[in-house]
Amino acid sequence: MTANGSHGHKHPPSGPFVIDTRELGRRPGAMQEVRRTEAAPADLGVELIKLPPGSPIDLDLRMESVAEGVLVSGAVSATASGECGRCLDPVEEQVQVRIVELFAYPGSTTDETTDEDEISRLVDDRVNLEPVSRNAIVLALPLTPLCDPDCMGLCAGCGERLEDLPEDHTHEQIDPRWAALQEKFGNLDQ
Ligand SMILES: [Zn+2]
Ligand SMILES: [Zn+2]
Repeated sequence: MTANGSHGHKHPPSGPFVIDTRELGRRPGAMQEVRRTEAAPADLGVELIKLPPGSPIDLDLRMESVAEGVLVSGAVSATASGECGRCLDPVEEQVQVRIVELFAYPGSTTDETTDEDEISRLVDDRVNLEPVSRNAIVLALPLTPLCDPDCMGLCAGCGERLEDLPEDHTHEQIDPRWAALQEKFGNLDQ
């Protein structure tokens, strides 16, 4: 049986958004700045635009020891990439979100008087900022990313980007009924 086996003991949390608070200590008022760059986890984003897995995420955070736990606040920044919702050209978007999250000490009054989905908890003296960061990043991303706010999209006739086409670009639209007559009787001009 492994050490992590049968008695409900969890693995210490790990991942790019997990920060160890042991160095901070538990004296209320203690403060620690955390600046680091981590690799983006898979599938962080929305359908048309995401953080490329492994791309850098900058964390610029402050951890404060408070009576009931650790308060984490600061900025999470990254570059998302995807495609324009109108013309499908590649789009990059800088994302910077601010997060604030209280992590309660296990056994604290906050821990004992709130539900797990109300307030986060420290687990093995670590805070896991992944859920709060994920939510904030997803909310900050555009549902329809655009290469340019004025992007005109694609020509319905040929699928080329309208911006790349001459201004007088058109496709001759022949009325299908007229086309059928032309076929039947030949060119009436003759
Ligand atoms: Zn576009
Ligand atoms: Zn066209």
